[in-house]
Amino acid sequence: MKKLISFLTVFFMLIVLHPSAEDSAITMFAPDGRTIEVSLADKDAYKAVGWYENYSDVTKTMYAPDGRELTVWLTEIEAYKAVGWYENKSDVTKTMYAPDGRELTVWITEIEAYKAVGWYENKSDVTVLMCAADGRQITVFQTQVADYQKVGWFLCQSKEVDPAKPMVALTFDDGPKRASTERILKALETYQARATFFVVGNRIPGNEDILKRMDALGCQVGNHTYNHPDLAKQSAGGIASQISGTDYNIYRAIGKYSTVVRPPYGSVNSTVRSAIGKPLILWSLDTLDWKHRNASYVINAVLSKVKDGDIILMHDIHDTSATAAQTIIPSLIQAGYQLVTVDELALYKGYTMPAHKTYNSFR
Ligand code: ZN
Repeated sequence: MKKLISFLTVFFMLIVLHPSAEDSAITMFAPDGRTIEVSLADKDAYKAVGWYENYSDVTKTMYAPDGRELTVWLTEIEAYKAVGWYENKSDVTKTMYAPDGRELTVWITEIEAYKAVGWYENKSDVTVLMCAADGRQITVFQTQVADYQKVGWFLCQSKEVDPAKPMVALTFDDGPKRASTERILKALETYQARATFFVVGNRIPGNEDILKRMDALGCQVGNHTYNHPDLAKQSAGGIASQISGTDYNIYRAIGKYSTVVRPPYGSVNSTVRSAIGKPLILWSLDTLDWKHRNASYVINAVLSKVKDGDIILMHDIHDTSATAAQTIIPSLIQAGYQLVTVDELALYKGYTMPAHKTYNSFR
């Protein structure tokens, strides 16, 4: 009997209260999960006070770093975030890279497992920059390197120095001179190589930007006196002011002092040694580029004689030397030499450089 009454009640309600076709009911949703049946005519009024027509309007799929997905009410998002869920799939996934160019999207919790079997997190971890002797560059996957090497490409110099591999220090004296020095800097930049520039102090004013660029490229700025005298013919005081005047201008340009000095003409005596409180850097490979203003001669002078640990003497004030440098730099790298600064050469070859002493090479 009870059941019958209940049935009749429902029946009665359906008959009497069921909306007509023109006024059918719809279900609306609140962001906190409540639902309500409203007549179609009232829909907009409900929308105006925060109700939504679609379930998807009030819910959000959230993601866990292990790949689980969950649909939550909008009002629950913050609470789920607080316990490690994320709003975007990209927040819990990562694209990984293989050395042969394959890519894979994995869950964050899977990253370490994929690393263990040869996948990498960054595309830059599986690619390398290759250089051509004419200055072209290309980024290739590691597995492509050998094929590119067969057709004349080589690995551009890396920023990091490998102490186990050959290295030399290119040094350029007597500059800066805008036209030729900038060509050399451009070539160094192209191949990510470094050199040491022994600058003359009175050539710095107006060329401070060139020294800044040297410094920015990781090159070393050394001291080649203020106006290039033969220091062996100077008094101790004269020698000191030649060095300090140049250091002052170097400091004004790049905010640091020189750590090495190259005496003009390689001219050194006991007064010079004691007056200069820095290491005196000579050379082991003289290109004689100041005498033979011929790029081919200078290129051959370097490539035919170069040895690991050499300090190579050139002059950046000659156009022919800049032209030679444009070939020497990629050729040395292609031959397996790392082009480093004088300070780096000493460091990686295991030398300390006490002041007041002369150095020809770091072999
Ligand atoms: Zn000089």
